[in-house]
Amino acid sequence: MDTAVEFPRRKTRQIMVGDVPVGGGAPVTVQSMTITKTADVEATLAQIYQLAAAGADIVRCTCNEPEAAEGLARIVPRSPVPIVADIHHQYRRALEALEAGVHCLRLNPGNIRNPEHIKAVAREAKDRNVPIRIGVNGGSLDKELYEKYGGKVTPQAMVESAQRELAYFDEVDFDLIKISVKASNVPLMIEAYRQLAEVTDHPLHLGVTECGPPPGGILKATAGIATLLAEGIGDTIRYSLSSDPVDEARLGRQLLESFGLRERKNVDLIACPSCGRAEIDVYKIANDAQDAFADKQIPLQVAVMGCVVNGPGEARDADIGIAAGNKRGHLFIRGENVAVVPEDEMVDTLVEWATFINEEGMDAALARALSTKDAARKAAEEDRQRNLNEKGEDANDSETVVELMKKARS
Ligand code: SF4
Repeated sequence: MDTAVEFPRRKTRQIMVGDVPVGGGAPVTVQSMTITKTADVEATLAQIYQLAAAGADIVRCTCNEPEAAEGLARIVPRSPVPIVADIHHQYRRALEALEAGVHCLRLNPGNIRNPEHIKAVAREAKDRNVPIRIGVNGGSLDKELYEKYGGKVTPQAMVESAQRELAYFDEVDFDLIKISVKASNVPLMIEAYRQLAEVTDHPLHLGVTECGPPPGGILKATAGIATLLAEGIGDTIRYSLSSDPVDEARLGRQLLESFGLRERKNVDLIACPSCGRAEIDVYKIANDAQDAFADKQIPLQVAVMGCVVNGPGEARDADIGIAAGNKRGHLFIRGENVAVVPEDEMVDTLVEWATFINEEGMDAALARALSTKDAARKAAEEDRQRNLNEKGEDANDSETVVELMKKARS
């Protein structure tokens, strides 16, 4: 469904991470991180390809040892997406990663504190036209700042950490910068980004660190990232989950698609919550449909609805959907019934027609439905009436409950 609602985005400078623009009005990008040993080139490349297929625009690899830097030299030329080297404590790894040809570095100001080392890296990055992310992390905040702010990680302390690093970069006239101020505490992270957005126009990389496993981790990451995106803050995002990084890439992409910040690439599956009128196990069919569409790149909104009484109407904005009725499925396109199939073929039918629409177009699908739609409409009306007759107008017994409540009060 197209929406007229758009969130104004904060104006930021633009940098290029390889051939991917970040900031300056460019589409918000998705990042994820490999969990292989970077020195294991084939395993790391295999994971990078999986992440790119799942929606990652940029992938970060750790560069924690000389062998990892050598791995990067082999990985970068074969990667389908730009590579960011994650630098831990040793600035020499940053210089080696630049030598390896990476498209961006991530430095943690809490870990590399020697100003001369920081400036040496920035000078080298400047010569190579490679951007750096200043990656402040609440959990590894510079000790001095931690003490200055009363032995606490505060939004002000995190912003000041980023500003100190910016000042070092400024000294060597380096400005290809993006910044993150991540924390595992969601309100802290939100406020740190808000304050940072007030004092800089460098593009911002959003994330909640150490979110933990799904589903709680997904909630935390989404709470932090989505709140800021709705305020127009954020140019690139990462979900940091204790699970397969492919999930991170997929979720990041889905979040941006749901905000209308990226073109839809995969199916947007909607499903009714089910109720007393449902004629199928909606949750099972919705999950089966989700699995069936998981690896297909079909940019359509697809609906699974529990009954034909309200399903086609409630999901009339979906491109295609199926509603259950009397042991059969009623397929509809933009709210119009077009075909009837046995109940056990509902998911396969959805996939087949959605693929057809994706490949041949909506007009071709409507033309295909010409010979079946009258019978489909008639069958849907029969099942609708049957459901209404059997379950009545008040299938959820809401009115009975209300009557009981009234009686209890009188
Ligand atoms: S009325 Fe039908 S479509 Fe709506 S929630 Fe109930 S089963 Fe689903």
